[in-house]
Amino acid sequence: MKNFSDPLLCNVNNTLFDALQIINNNGKGVTIIVDDNKKLCGILTDGDIRKLIIKDTTLKTPVKDIMNKRFTYATIDDDPKKILGLASEKIRIIPIVDKDFIYQKFYELDSRIFIPVASPELGGNELKYLIDAFISTWISSKGSYITKFEEEFAQFCECKYGVAVSNGTAALHLALLALGIKTGDEVIVPDLTFAATINCVLYTNATPVIVDIDPVSWCVNSDEIEKAITPKTKAIIAVHLYGQPCEMDKIMKIARKHKIHVVEDCAEAHGATYTNKRVGSIGDVGCFSFYGNKIITTGEGGMCTTKSKTLAEKIRMLRDHGMSNKKKYWHDLIGYNYRMTNLQAAIGLAQLERIEEILTNREQIENGYRESLKDINTIQFQHHNLPKRKKITWLVSALVKKLDRDYLLKLLKKKGIDSRPFFYPLSAMEIYRKYVFSNSESTKISALGLNFPTNSSINNDTLNTIRNILLKAIK
Ligand SMILES: *Cc1c(COP(=O)(O)O)cnc(C)c1O
Repeated sequence: MKNFSDPLLCNVNNTLFDALQIINNNGKGVTIIVDDNKKLCGILTDGDIRKLIIKDTTLKTPVKDIMNKRFTYATIDDDPKKILGLASEKIRIIPIVDKDFIYQKFYELDSRIFIPVASPELGGNELKYLIDAFISTWISSKGSYITKFEEEFAQFCECKYGVAVSNGTAALHLALLALGIKTGDEVIVPDLTFAATINCVLYTNATPVIVDIDPVSWCVNSDEIEKAITPKTKAIIAVHLYGQPCEMDKIMKIARKHKIHVVEDCAEAHGATYTNKRVGSIGDVGCFSFYGNKIITTGEGGMCTTKSKTLAEKIRMLRDHGMSNKKKYWHDLIGYNYRMTNLQAAIGLAQLERIEEILTNREQIENGYRESLKDINTIQFQHHNLPKRKKITWLVSALVKKLDRDYLLKLLKKKGIDSRPFFYPLSAMEIYRKYVFSNSESTKISALGLNFPTNSSINNDTLNTIRNILLKAIK
């Protein structure tokens, strides 16, 4: 009879006494029972043994007579997410076998736990379209997937035109260039956003003007925009932060009154609406990101959406070295290479087919958090029913009250739960400080804000773990 070096394994020809010794030594409360060829036969837990002893089983009883033959296992090719789904507080150890049922290793709930803050959902036609694009040999920035993706994404955003680009930052940069933003102009940006929003203003040599946010929506404060306007103001970048639409009717009214442009930074808000209008269709240009952690992804990628033919054509030209669309190798503008590849667009199109489903799933994840933590007033979730707005769930976002946010982040990380603090206010950073107009609310909100992991591996166990961490931290 064979013995095994793996501390969890027990030979099926052993006795209950041997099994107990194995469990005692491995400290896992369980032994995995295999035959001489390591073929998986059963499982025995210390709980099982307690019940057996009560029923007069003796220590000499062969393991094969008492082992659990109906147990949870996984195969080596199973999706890690599936395996995670099988595990629970009760079933912490899962044997993993190959196709011949030979034991390979075990999966343990505690040792595995790492919940990433975000992970892409690639379970639709992504691979199929990607292979199709690859086989077609149109792997560079020409090809039918680009056109299809542009058309369908524009349609999703209720816009006539979509121009796919290499990333969300490029989309913002091109939007400003197409609107004629240049040296000496001022562009208003919110203090609480990802740095790309302000960087693209600086790329055009215009001067950013950083204004405060509204503490309720966390988006740019319209009254502050009005106060910051000067004769040099040429544009506002409205960032729909963490899926929440800005107050677009007020912003558009201010823009019309002062004859300034509005660029929507929709990088975190694909599908959100304001007065039933999709973000990206309200200002002059909408800018989207398809980075790996965004609502839909192309790996890296972005899109400008607009209702203006002139702007779409200009963005298209600027994306492709500023080359004339009538005369090859003729340049009337200094352009960029900001093109998206057909391979990226193939993934994007497949993602777009499922965007409603992806949005619904994310919303359900957020609802799960809200339900699980509803009695814990330390966590104040983002407003999700502000008038005229339908926010979407990018990352489940909340403020941490009466508890140190960074301490909570550390506790979560210790348990393998990856979370994120809010963006630092731009005004907190040396390189941007000189552009500040106002920043008091953004500074407060930024220090309290936290994004919880938002991906399909979040289940009731994860939510309970987070809940327990919070309850302990409050005490
Ligand atoms: C992600 C993001 C961007 C930039 O998008 P990239 O595709 O990473 O260049 C711009 N603005 C906001 C608010 C973002 O979250």
